[in-house]
Amino acid sequence: MPWAWWRRWRTPPAEIDDLRWAALLARAPLVRGLDPLRQARLRGLAARFLDGKAISPAHGLTLDDDDRLALASHACLPLLGIGEAGLRGWSEVIVHPGAFRVEHGRHGAPHDMDELEVVEDGFEDREGESWEHGPMVLSWADLDAEIRAPEPGYQLVVHEMAHKLDALDGVMDGTPPLPRDWQREWARDFGAAFEALNAELDAREAAAARHGVHDDEEPDEDEAGTRIDPYAAEAPEEFFAVCSEYHFTAPDTLRAAFPAVAEHLERFYGPAPRLDVQ
Ligand SMILES: [Zn+2]
Repeated sequence: MPWAWWRRWRTPPAEIDDLRWAALLARAPLVRGLDPLRQARLRGLAARFLDGKAISPAHGLTLDDDDRLALASHACLPLLGIGEAGLRGWSEVIVHPGAFRVEHGRHGAPHDMDELEVVEDGFEDREGESWEHGPMVLSWADLDAEIRAPEPGYQLVVHEMAHKLDALDGVMDGTPPLPRDWQREWARDFGAAFEALNAELDAREAAAARHGVHDDEEPDEDEAGTRIDPYAAEAPEEFFAVCSEYHFTAPDTLRAAFPAVAEHLERFYGPAPRLDVQ
């Protein structure tokens, strides 16, 4: 019925009540670190997220309303600039209890094979789909840990939302929809930084081979390096997603490594949360 459809579409989502929001602030340093205006904006976006996305816990996981708000609010951090338009194009979040392969080597370590087996048949297909319109797939153990104690350079749902924003223009290429001039500058600056990271990793590997150093040895303290997770060098879209994680959790590291990229992300997302706020 058109009228019912119209009314449902027009109805604003249920507001997040004060007690629940206070509980989130106590739990989530990244949300606490936003200024009051951006906190209020995030609260509205999180309500819209909870209204529009199905959150489906899998494999016996249960998520209460506070958990769902924690997930939704962090998923909306990358929307503080672009707004609700960033929610378009997909409808479901599937949440697994623990570590499984979200993406190859995201944390630089292979996931446990026993846990890989919990992934049901068809995961590969869904993973492929998830670039554009398919569900977002998350590991709750990783995400909850990163919500309660932000880890510099890592924010799982920010990473996945960056991919969703990247896909909004129909192409996963490390560039979200932007005005044309800005898009050109973005492509130029991100491209140069991506090449620089790859060149640095290649040089490091060549030096290690010359000196007979194994890959798994820590580099010297004084070795110059970007200190950005090498996973960012996998592809331009991963570079954008990983740098987005740094923007929210380790902006100074990102700025030191790739100042032009840090500048674009600050313009796109707004200022990073202050993690010293108690
Ligand atoms: Zn990724």
